[in-house]
Amino acid sequence: SKTSRGDAKDESKHLPIYRHKAKLVEAVKASTFLVVTGETGSGKTTQLPQYLYEAGFCKNGRIGITQPRRVAAITVAQRVSQEMQCTLGREVGYQVRFDDCTSQDTVVKYMTDGCLLREILADPGLSQYSVVILDEVHERSLNTDILLGLLKKIFSKATKSRSFPVRVVVMSATLETDKLSAFLDNCPVFTIPGRMFPVTCTFGSAVGPKDTESTAYVKEVVKMVLEVHTSEMAGDILVFLTGQTEIERACDLLFEKAESIDYRYDVQDQTVDGLLILPLYGSMPTDQQRQIFQPSPPGIRKCVVATNIAATSLTINGIIYIIDSGFVKQLNHNSRVGMDVLEVVPISKSEAQQRAGRAGRTSAGKCFRIYTEEFWQKCMPEYTIPEIQRTSLTAVVLTLKCLGVHDVIRFPYLDSPEERFILEALKQLYQFDAIDRRGRVTQLGKLMVEFPLHPGLTRALLKAASLGCEDMLLSVAAMLSVENIFIRPGHPEKQKEADKKHRALAAKCGGTNDFATLLTVFQACKSSDRPSAWCKENWIHWRALKSAFSVETQLREILLRLQQMRDFPVETFDGNKNELFRRCLCTGYFTNVARRSVGKVFCTMDGHGSMVNIHPSSSLFDQDAELNWIIFHDVLVTSRVYIRTVCPIRYEWVKDLLPKLHEVDVYELSSVARE
Ligand code: ADP
Ligand code: MG
Repeated sequence: SKTSRGDAKDESKHLPIYRHKAKLVEAVKASTFLVVTGETGSGKTTQLPQYLYEAGFCKNGRIGITQPRRVAAITVAQRVSQEMQCTLGREVGYQVRFDDCTSQDTVVKYMTDGCLLREILADPGLSQYSVVILDEVHERSLNTDILLGLLKKIFSKATKSRSFPVRVVVMSATLETDKLSAFLDNCPVFTIPGRMFPVTCTFGSAVGPKDTESTAYVKEVVKMVLEVHTSEMAGDILVFLTGQTEIERACDLLFEKAESIDYRYDVQDQTVDGLLILPLYGSMPTDQQRQIFQPSPPGIRKCVVATNIAATSLTINGIIYIIDSGFVKQLNHNSRVGMDVLEVVPISKSEAQQRAGRAGRTSAGKCFRIYTEEFWQKCMPEYTIPEIQRTSLTAVVLTLKCLGVHDVIRFPYLDSPEERFILEALKQLYQFDAIDRRGRVTQLGKLMVEFPLHPGLTRALLKAASLGCEDMLLSVAAMLSVENIFIRPGHPEKQKEADKKHRALAAKCGGTNDFATLLTVFQACKSSDRPSAWCKENWIHWRALKSAFSVETQLREILLRLQQMRDFPVETFDGNKNELFRRCLCTGYFTNVARRSVGKVFCTMDGHGSMVNIHPSSSLFDQDAELNWIIFHDVLVTSRVYIRTVCPIRYEWVKDLLPKLHEVDVYELSSVARE
């Protein structure tokens, strides 16, 4: 409606950034690189692009703004289109992996950092852009860090090929502005003075130093929400939890009083005893996201249960109370297992302060930490380690190589990853045939870089395509690219019902191959007359499946384009379809092979020899079949090391591939890298 649009524009005049509008625009004009810093919520993300637009920066090209998180890119674009009074996707648009909402008219484009990285692959000079804004740089996401180095390389010298100069703005909530400025040729720093109200923090007694591997924090957080709701003055609550599963579990627990309401289907009425419960995580549907920003109705307290996304990327007004679980879910390279694993770890102290600060934007607030002071002192590090120093670099190293950055060790990193991580990435790329022994990108590597998927999965997909059976792998890749297909209600009775349905789905394709189960679900739902009803009946997330359908279409488009453009490899195979499917998987997952050790414990074959267990969510969890060799998609570490999405294989299928895990001398690859 007109009034809400007008209001949005008016509101923006009260933001701290507003008074600095003219000076900011001048600062952007004055230098190629600029660092902008200011408290979260001061208006950097939503306002600066509009100021630049008004100042005429879009005459020659677009303004691009990157975000490390997809939800942030989408919601912020929505907000800004509202403030600029245009339809989303026209002047203001967004692009995230597998979802492009831009058009010819788009001049202000919000996107994930991964998307901009892909655009550089297609157009290394970023000729479409007049301004590139890297936002949320303090989060130190892998792609943003790589972009920092690339933009420095590309734009440090005046580029003659461009008809108009580019401006690069780097925005950060706090921290390290000197370091950023020094990195970007000692560029100017613009600071937006913020205002903050005091936040009183209290420690709890529920999580102590011994509880780093327990999942009790979900229940504790719920208890705290109810306590705050019944004993504190009016004001909304923001809860920090770890991920979608934990958030849904917490919401289920909060809803237990009103059992008939299932928020996954009834978005309309989510209140229990005057408490409006709103989950917020990465793959949220947009109609639910919108509600989060709306003021709570009179007499009702809003409670947003969120991941770290609400720490700095999104600002929700009206929050007075923070409940901090003290944990975050992170993808970390785990040296015990020798691969990237998703794990729940204590947050850093600076992160905890950032979380608490969310309560003090508009008035004094309170932060309830469910952990003890001892936990704070003993378990929480001072700062969060940048992602580039703790995750696999395989995909970005391939991107860099394809961009002609041959020496990936001496690339300008803001903080260098350990050399062994780079070597590990080179080794993996060699194993997937993406680079040759001298570290040069192969024909296959050039095909692989086009897919926004994990290189192993891409390898399997390309193998399948060369054998003419890409349909199966396209669906599986799509299913593995979206979050949580299977609903886990938490409630014991409902859980039983869901388990039964899920087992029945797995049984349809033999009951021993989780990849095949994903394929079965995909096909069964796609061919159903009433797919959403089918999902509800089978305890499957309809929303996740809908995205999987769209992802599949997009992967197919990429594949078709490549098949038309380049010499695409062609191979033949005789054998049955089931074997063909699993053999294709082996091509991409031979780095994730495990062999039965004792009982139900398996041992990985990548040289680390880690002992792993099949996750209870796998259809192979309870099976005693003679499983000797298996491949798996990913690893989850809690009190034990679990592997998820598992498939039995035969040793013969990987026999010729396994030596590749050991044969290559990483120093040979790296000596070329140093050339
Ligand atoms: P910063 O980038 O400095 O952290 P933002 O530009 O993200 O600040 O936020 C500025 C203001 O805009 C905040 O008060 C925030 O609540 C508001 N805002 C941002 N997105 C939305 C939205 N989708 N709906 C309503 N308000 C929003
Ligand atoms: Mg911001």
